[in-house]
Amino acid sequence: MKLVPWRFFRTWECLACGLCCRRYIVSLSREEALRLMEKYGPWVISIEGGKYFLRRVNGTCIFQRGNLCGIQDDKPIACRLWPFFILNKPIKARDRLLAEFNWNDYSFYVYVDPFCRGLNKGSTPIEKAIIEAIKIKIGEQKTQFYTTSKYILKPSIKKKESLRI
Ligand code: SF4
Repeated sequence: MKLVPWRFFRTWECLACGLCCRRYIVSLSREEALRLMEKYGPWVISIEGGKYFLRRVNGTCIFQRGNLCGIQDDKPIACRLWPFFILNKPIKARDRLLAEFNWNDYSFYVYVDPFCRGLNKGSTPIEKAIIEAIKIKIGEQKTQFYTTSKYILKPSIKKKESLRI
């Protein structure tokens, strides 16, 4: 995955193409894995080399429904933040100015994954999505407004049994 400093893009909007859920294997913290197993069943998680991941079924995330996420309110943090990566130092020294993002007297270094089809799409300034991503990353906010699709799937998956594989 080659990340690009955020300043190369002006706007961002999730197009609900669903390609990120198909392409990436999502890694989880132990706490996230335990929470998801408790709520949806042990079969939603895979463990490899002592690390936790969202299980994939038929080439995509077990929770994907159509092109959307079936557990919007329970999404792991990696999914909430993607395609934004909020770091506390630049990946390369020469990125410093292009990746720096100042918010609330702190400097963050923000990159995006150019695989995302939503870059430079829509009319939401990318800064608005980045501020929300920073708040999510530092635990100040959970609900997503600018960092997810406007076609959020409701209702979310409720039953463990519907996910048994
Ligand atoms: S985050 Fe990007 S790749 Fe994923 S569904 Fe939205 S537009 Fe598509």
